[in-house]
Amino acid sequence: MLSTRGYAADSPTSNLKPFDFERREMGARDILIEIKFCGVCHSDIHQVRDEWGGSIYPMVPGHEIVGRVIRLGADVSKFKENDYAGVGCFVDSCRECVNCAEGFEQFCLIHCAQTYNSTEMDKKTPTFGGYSSQIVVDENYALKISDMENLAAVAPLLCAGITTYSPLKRFNVGKNQKVGVVGLGGLGHMGVKLAASMGAQVTVFSTSPSKEQDSRKLGAHDFVVTKNPENMRALAGSYDFILDTVSANHDLNQYLNLLKRGGAMVLVGAPEKPAAVSAFSLIGNNRTLAGSGIGGIAETQEMLDYCAANKISADVEIIPIQQISDAYERTIKSDVRYRFVIDMNSL
Ligand code: NAP
Ligand code: ZN
Repeated sequence: MLSTRGYAADSPTSNLKPFDFERREMGARDILIEIKFCGVCHSDIHQVRDEWGGSIYPMVPGHEIVGRVIRLGADVSKFKENDYAGVGCFVDSCRECVNCAEGFEQFCLIHCAQTYNSTEMDKKTPTFGGYSSQIVVDENYALKISDMENLAAVAPLLCAGITTYSPLKRFNVGKNQKVGVVGLGGLGHMGVKLAASMGAQVTVFSTSPSKEQDSRKLGAHDFVVTKNPENMRALAGSYDFILDTVSANHDLNQYLNLLKRGGAMVLVGAPEKPAAVSAFSLIGNNRTLAGSGIGGIAETQEMLDYCAANKISADVEIIPIQQISDAYERTIKSDVRYRFVIDMNSL
C-alpha cells in the first residue's frame, strides 16, 4: 500500500484537517500521480457538509487534480514517466454498459466510482480525492495535460471546464446566439470563456455588481445585476441558451422567461433543495429546461485539447491547504475570483 498524506473532514460540521491514509498498490494499468494542484469546487463544500445527503466520512475532497506521473504499471501505454496528467470527477466505471460504451462513463449503469465520497467498483472500498499528495488511477480514467506551463489554472478544467463545455456543445452554442451565464463563480467564469470562444454573444447574470468589469475581461458582452427585476423584465424572450451555474436555491422562472422561442436553459448548479418551476415558464415559447452532469473521458480530453489550442484556462487564486476553511467560507460568500486552487506543495 502507498502511504499518502491528505486533508479530510470527519463530519458535516468539522473543518478539514491532516489525514494519513493508504492508496492501493499499483495494478498493471495504473499510474501513480504526484498531485501538484487541486481545484476547490463548490461540490466539495456541498459534500463535506452533506448538503446532498449520503456523505461518507472521513472525506478527502477534490476532483480537479493535476500532477506528474511518477510511476507506471507494467501495461500502461497512454502515459510515460514525468508526463502531466489530470483526474476529474470519477476514477472508474464498468466499461461495458451502453453509457460507458457511448462515452458517458459518469452515468455508468453499474457503478461510477467517483473520485471521492464514493466507492471503488467493489462498492465497498472508499475513494479519496485530490486534497492529497498522490493518487493511483487506471490510465483510462486519467487525462493527458499538454498545457504544462499553466498547471494551476488547468486544474479547474477537470470539473468546471468540462461541466460547462459539455452542455455548450450538446446545445450547439455558437455564432449569432445570445447566451446567458447565471452566476459568475468557478463554473460560471469558465462558461463565459468557453461560450465566448465559440462565438456566442454572452451575458452574465449576477448577484454581485462588483463582478461587472471582470466579466467583460473574461469575454462577456453584457452584464446584468439580477437583483433588479426591471433589468430582467426588459430582456424577456431574448436568449437562445442559458447556463445556470448557481450553487444556492434561487427562482428559475425569472431566467426561463428570458428564453426566446425554442430556447433552452441547462442547470449545472446543484443547490441543496428542489426548485419550483411554473409550467407557464416552459409552455410559453416552447422552452426546454435540461440538466447536465460533468462529461465522459473522451469529451473531457476533447475539452482539455480545445482549451490548450484556444489558450483557455481558469482564473485562479492559489492557496496553501492550511487556508482551505477560509476558502470554503469565501466561496460560499461568492467572494472567489474565480477558482481557489490548492498548491499541494503546502501539504
Ligand atoms: P461557485 O464558485 O461558488 O459559484 C457559484 C456562483 O453562484 C457564485 O459565484 C454566485 O455568482 C452565484 N450564487 C451563489 N449564491 C447565490 C444565491 N443565493 N443566489 C444567486 N446566485 C448565487 O460554485 P461552482 O464551483 O461554480 O459550482 C456551482 C454549482 O455547480 C454548485 O452547486 C456545484 O455543486 C455544481 N456543480 C455541478 C456539476 C455538474 O456536473 N452538474 C459539476 C460541478 C459543480 P454571482 O456572484 O455572480 O451571483
Ligand atoms: Zn466539481
